[in-house]
Amino acid sequence: MKELKFEEYPLNIPDFKELEKEFKALMSNFKSADSVNAQYEVMLRIGEFFDEVQTDFTIISVKHSLDTRNEEYKKAKDVIDELGPMFQSLTQEYNEEVLISKFKPELEKITGTFLFKILDLNRKTFQDSIIEDLQQENKLCTEYDNLMASAEIEYEGQIYNLEQMGKFVQDKDRTVRRNSSKKVEEWMKEKEDQIASIYSKLVKLRTKMAEKLGYNSFTSLAYDRMCRTDWSQEEARSYRDQILETAVPLATKLTQQKAKRTCVEKPQFYDLNFQFLDGNPTPKGIKDDLVNAAQEMYNEMGQEIGSFFGKMVDMHLLELEAKPGKMNGGYMTYFPRYKMPFVFSNFNGTSGDVDVLTHEIGHAFQGYMSKDIKPTEYRSPTMEECEIHSMSMEFLATPWMEKFFKEDREKYLLGHLEEAIIFLPYGATVDEFQHWVYNNPEASHEQRCEKWRELERKYTPFKEYEDFPFYDKGGRWMRQSHIFTSPFYYIDYTLAQVVALQFLGMMTENYAYAWEKYVKLCSLGGKYPFTELLKEANLENPFLTGTIQRTFKSIESVLEKYTINYNNRRFAEIQK
Ligand code: ZN
Repeated sequence: MKELKFEEYPLNIPDFKELEKEFKALMSNFKSADSVNAQYEVMLRIGEFFDEVQTDFTIISVKHSLDTRNEEYKKAKDVIDELGPMFQSLTQEYNEEVLISKFKPELEKITGTFLFKILDLNRKTFQDSIIEDLQQENKLCTEYDNLMASAEIEYEGQIYNLEQMGKFVQDKDRTVRRNSSKKVEEWMKEKEDQIASIYSKLVKLRTKMAEKLGYNSFTSLAYDRMCRTDWSQEEARSYRDQILETAVPLATKLTQQKAKRTCVEKPQFYDLNFQFLDGNPTPKGIKDDLVNAAQEMYNEMGQEIGSFFGKMVDMHLLELEAKPGKMNGGYMTYFPRYKMPFVFSNFNGTSGDVDVLTHEIGHAFQGYMSKDIKPTEYRSPTMEECEIHSMSMEFLATPWMEKFFKEDREKYLLGHLEEAIIFLPYGATVDEFQHWVYNNPEASHEQRCEKWRELERKYTPFKEYEDFPFYDKGGRWMRQSHIFTSPFYYIDYTLAQVVALQFLGMMTENYAYAWEKYVKLCSLGGKYPFTELLKEANLENPFLTGTIQRTFKSIESVLEKYTINYNNRRFAEIQK
């Protein structure tokens, strides 16, 4: 097959009737297979069938996210939002047949038992009776995405979207940080009713689906949807307690140090992203310079990842610059037909741009390393596993940061590590909030806001909102898209962050060893559930009491070194 560049990928809306026919034929082959090998062969062909559909779906989503104003893409996206659950119904039919296959014990010998656990959860979390609800859920999520992408905020005579406004909260000038934040708050306030109504509908809808499927709340359904086979709500709760006991004090200390360093006396929320008195570290050069620097870095990191990154560039599979109409945020996705990932982001001139070239490429490299795993269900890891590859790459890339930041290298290393730690309490806030929301589905919008503010005070006591009444009464959760579009996903970032910090400790002792473990982890894809996967790569399970504390201990000397290096550099500059 000729290798296509991204723009040559065809936009094809799957024809459900036709595909359903093809699927039924495959299913009848599956049922009539007279040996385990014959049946396993059909399983692989069904995997390829779904790969094709998924590729078409993904092309449409990606093109739509690149230009949300394009009518053709918008229509195609609406169609697949409707079709998604219908294909899910086919998947369901397949899952059920596999689970009752007469060759099940022999199949388990070929695939391992985890696959059957996944299929069983897929079966539990779906019934034809919720197809319309799922379609509605998709629609509401798209509505939220479109609303947030539509922001046109006027600031100092120019129009910016939310993503672009992000740059100003890192500005050296406190007035800029404050006034730009005010603009964003005003916009949020203006859209409050609309956003609150989308969320209320989502909570109601999700709760209804859970009831239909026989769950006691959406929370349990969400855990199953995400294939959390080896940890429970109870473990999540005690994990958040670990964060409260260990990460909150350290995050508070780091935030105070930062305030001192930046000479801010009474830091407000808009000061928290401001890291250094002479400005946050910024990448040096334009997009192409950063991509070239990344290419050099990956070539030195390893032959395989070097050639992989080169291919991403050649095939136009990196879409990095912010453009009007482009959706917010950043993501990586994967096209099974072409066995290649795709990376999307909105560069805004901050150090976050470099994080995209490490974080999202970490995701992408995993996708690429797992491309030939069979059965296809094992290709993608569960959510909390996915973020290990991306967040660990952010640390594995640190020895090359001079290429991106030049004289700002010391600032970047210190700032990035501080943020990684400060993030944990925020992640716990988002997680606990969602548990509360779905356990109290009847709560009003005002009660949700109140709860959010209460949790902010618990986990991020250093967050102040003076003269920002909308945020101070708890409105800020409405900007966190995961709460809307990926319920309960957020805790996974924190779990992965703890593991990524372990990689930092490991690589400080022995880089080659850490890199070897990382590549192994990427090539294992989703063959194991979270805690087993960690064992495979000699990593500690964040759920076990004491893990966060031990992890912090393992990076203590790095944090110290970064602080000293930064201070020395700062001192040398002042001397000049
Ligand atoms: Zn990620």
